[in-house]
Amino acid sequence: QKYGLNELRKMYLDFFASKDHLVLGSFSLVPHNDNSLLLINAGMAPLKPYFTGQEIPPKTRVATCQKCIRTGDIENIGKTARHGTFFEMLGNFSFGDYFKTEAIHWSWEFLTEVVGLEADRLYPSVYLEDDEAFDIWNKEMGIPADRIFKFGKEDNFWEHGAGPCGPCSEIYYDRGEKYGCGKPDCTVGCECDRYIEIWNNVFTQFENDGKGNYTTLKQKNIDTGMGLERLATVVQDVDSIFDVDTIRALRDKVCEFSGKEYKKEYAWDVSIRIITDHIRSATFMISDGIMPSNEGRGYVLRRLIRRAARHGRLLGIDGKFLAKLSETVIESSKDGYPELEEKKNMIFKVLTEEENKFNKTIDQGLGILTDMQKEMDNAGSKTLSGKNAFKLYDTYGFPLDLTKEILEEKGFNVDEDGFKACMEEQKEKARKARKKTNYMGADATIYEQMDKNITSKFVGYDKLENESVI
Ligand code: ATP
Ligand code: MG
Ligand code: MG
Ligand code: MG
Repeated sequence: QKYGLNELRKMYLDFFASKDHLVLGSFSLVPHNDNSLLLINAGMAPLKPYFTGQEIPPKTRVATCQKCIRTGDIENIGKTARHGTFFEMLGNFSFGDYFKTEAIHWSWEFLTEVVGLEADRLYPSVYLEDDEAFDIWNKEMGIPADRIFKFGKEDNFWEHGAGPCGPCSEIYYDRGEKYGCGKPDCTVGCECDRYIEIWNNVFTQFENDGKGNYTTLKQKNIDTGMGLERLATVVQDVDSIFDVDTIRALRDKVCEFSGKEYKKEYAWDVSIRIITDHIRSATFMISDGIMPSNEGRGYVLRRLIRRAARHGRLLGIDGKFLAKLSETVIESSKDGYPELEEKKNMIFKVLTEEENKFNKTIDQGLGILTDMQKEMDNAGSKTLSGKNAFKLYDTYGFPLDLTKEILEEKGFNVDEDGFKACMEEQKEKARKARKKTNYMGADATIYEQMDKNITSKFVGYDKLENESVI
């Protein structure tokens, strides 16, 4: 194996230190003085005040490796090769210092010379109106025009809520045909895992006031982001981020605890990868002081922990296993993140307590489900009503797919449309109730926004518990 994940992190930071950057440690996952974000989702997020000029940076060139959480990617986890809810983002930043030319030259130098990726497998993309960036790639770097992809605003204009934003240039790596979807038009930008995006160079020239008004920033900035796990995936030439050295060690533990072999059954693999991912997120979130709860960040954490626990059940893991897994997370990441070792006992405690609560509600639910089955038997029915499925979900924290799974084994099915109708009805009720009440003394609109952030990022994702039970 070429370079390990921890080694690559250091290589990147050392490289930018050699280009006169100040290397800062990762900021907390909890945003500081920033209501527009629930959790830090990019390297630039904690640096926003430096971009806008609100605060003076310690140096105009900074490089970091930032812990990130993107719950918006939860649907992808375990299914794509490249997404985690937790990942580390490498980033080099210029606050009114260097601009496009240096950023592009250095990213190329790092990828092709420092880590030694084949230039022929790399493809840049630019925002279609950004001729400046196109010319740098084409004329200065010598990349033929037909290897530079031009994309529109959706792909190549970077913004996350209010704050600095601008066109970007992404770098993709062709992992080869075997990872492709096989469609005739599969190329850079395809959603499959052949051409994976590894690095995004953002040229922040504008400020979005949050209402869609753009103004030109006084200083032009560079904000880049490269997923460390993705870099390691292509450097190590492995199938997915779950095969990268440090993450693989964790994945192997999941296999060990469940007695399931990796790459035998697709459904098992998805569960194995989900657990591997979610336990990383949960471990890092707890180390940053987040506690499971029914709102905001705590709610995100609770869902990640319970989702991991549930997939553990699906794999047939008996008893508690999350704290044991977090030991491996801590072991493989403590060099980069000493807070993990410091908060070790807290992490174990929180995970174990949450897992206990989850197991308790699940056990209660199993009892209720058995009663429901008896009723169905007596009535000669093979279908669980939507109302009952919803009751299990709402009162006992049973996600629909868990109910389905248990019933299918016994030859029953579930009225899914009925379930969805009950779900819609409850959501509507909650929306109305929220409009009227001042949630726990907080401004109702803030709470609503927060709720929207969470729910919109968890679309289609099974809610794992009912607030009133826990
Ligand atoms: P994708 O299109 O693959 O979802 P993105 O365009 O959403 O990625 P950016 O917002 O540009 O990603 O973030 C910068 C870099 O961070 C990406 O180029 C990628 O290397 C990495 N990255 C983004 N999301 C994830 C994730 N969920 N897991 C791991 N790495 C990620
Ligand atoms: Mg994305
Ligand atoms: Mg992208
Ligand atoms: Mg991108």
